[in-house]
Amino acid sequence: MKYYSTRDSALRMDSAEAVKMGLSRDGGLLTPETIPQIDRAFLESLVAERYQTRAAKVMGLYLTDYTEEELLSFAENAYGPDKFDTETVAPVRTLDDTTHCLELWHGPTSAFKDMALQMLPQLLSAALRKTGEDKTACILVATSGDTGKAALEGFADVPQTKIMVFYPKDGVSKVQETQMVTQEGDNVGVCAVAGNFDDAQAGVKRIFSDSAVRETLAKRGYFLSSANSINWGRILPQVVYYISAYCDLVRDGKLAMGDRVNFCVPTGNFGDILAAYYAKRMGLPVGKLICASNRNDVLTDFLRTGVYDRNRPFHTTMSPSMDILVSSNLERLLFDLSGENDEEVRGYMAALAESGRYEVSGPVKAALKEQFWGAFCDEAGTAAAIGSYYKKGYLMDTHTAVAASVMEQYRRETGDDTATVFVSTASPYKFCNHVLTAIEETPAGDGVELLDQLNAVTGVPVPRRLAALKDKARRFDRTCEKPGMDDVVLEFLR
Ligand SMILES: *Cc1c(COP(=O)(O)O)cnc(C)c1O
Repeated sequence: MKYYSTRDSALRMDSAEAVKMGLSRDGGLLTPETIPQIDRAFLESLVAERYQTRAAKVMGLYLTDYTEEELLSFAENAYGPDKFDTETVAPVRTLDDTTHCLELWHGPTSAFKDMALQMLPQLLSAALRKTGEDKTACILVATSGDTGKAALEGFADVPQTKIMVFYPKDGVSKVQETQMVTQEGDNVGVCAVAGNFDDAQAGVKRIFSDSAVRETLAKRGYFLSSANSINWGRILPQVVYYISAYCDLVRDGKLAMGDRVNFCVPTGNFGDILAAYYAKRMGLPVGKLICASNRNDVLTDFLRTGVYDRNRPFHTTMSPSMDILVSSNLERLLFDLSGENDEEVRGYMAALAESGRYEVSGPVKAALKEQFWGAFCDEAGTAAAIGSYYKKGYLMDTHTAVAASVMEQYRRETGDDTATVFVSTASPYKFCNHVLTAIEETPAGDGVELLDQLNAVTGVPVPRRLAALKDKARRFDRTCEKPGMDDVVLEFLR
């Protein structure tokens, strides 16, 4: 299968090339030229399989220049017992007859980013081999918390790669900072930036587009690459867990094969819910895709009116991984809904760049309404959801709480009683302070000591990697000014 750009459907490349490039040179996103279809027999064949086998089979439909043995060995490495704290990898928890929760945070960094970032480095490494690349890929990441650690953990000691992560000095939680600065591996670098997330991100973008830096690095045997969710190698592993969740529900007798299920996804950059959309397009029996936002409600308005308008205040919330006003992966959805009309997509993206706003066509609006339902949840609603689910026996993080709350709004407003899976994207232990407050406790401190407090109050086990942070040595101590980021990269890649 070939891949093409959402801004130029004449361009064609193999999957390995698409994974290696990350982003198309025309600024578009690389997207499969057809969406493979799965039927009932395919789903039935997966019901009795392990997660790793399901992953290899589903990804094999898209990555036709990788062999199924390769993909299976990648899946074994990515989702094995030394990485994931549960054999089932992405377990579905049933809360009542029609409500289920898909837990995606059992990986090494306790956030759902692991599901893709344990797989991407292996896909990339193989892509380097398949395309005869002799340079080393250097992944540059600016992070607001979860992505940086998950990318470090995924790329640590992967041959022919190096990874450098920049995080805003005062913009990440204590647990998140400790996770990053204690990272092990010979090919990793971590540096704080004196500034906020936008400063770190702007610095990384500047380095990417600086041809002098690129030339210097090429002479030294490096090229720059990205682990952001614009890379197809990050979206595809996420398609797997929607199909896997469906198979689990059938296996456990919660659904009959062919019954529809809704998915409700806490959304930021639109990567996770886009993967659910692809699963539906492939033929998985899915009803509504419910898009849950926090106070940054640009997607709620978009799904309801067809107008995307980023000109609005930015809110800092207790679900920081969803604090985002421009959801990059929406571009892939628009490409598909417009009948793969690259000209139409170019128009929307040009308007977005120019005025921060665009309005989609009538047919695209109708398709959005048909497939999606969107709503948002404010800070009080997020805390209330954590509190009320805790009373019912389930402890969840702030991002998951946004999804739970929006799922309830959906049910109230539409009366739809289809079985619904809401997606849990982080362990509650990543956001101890907010979770403690929401269950009416007073946080005693602000660092890793809160892990013990939350554990003492709730009895829910602390993920082992987070518990181990207390004893880990700090390896990275550097803070740079924003203009100094280039030097940090040049020193790192000597
Ligand atoms: C990244 C992230 C999200 C948002 O996912 P997108 O794919 O960006 O929409 C939600 N919750 C958590 C915990 C995350 O880390």
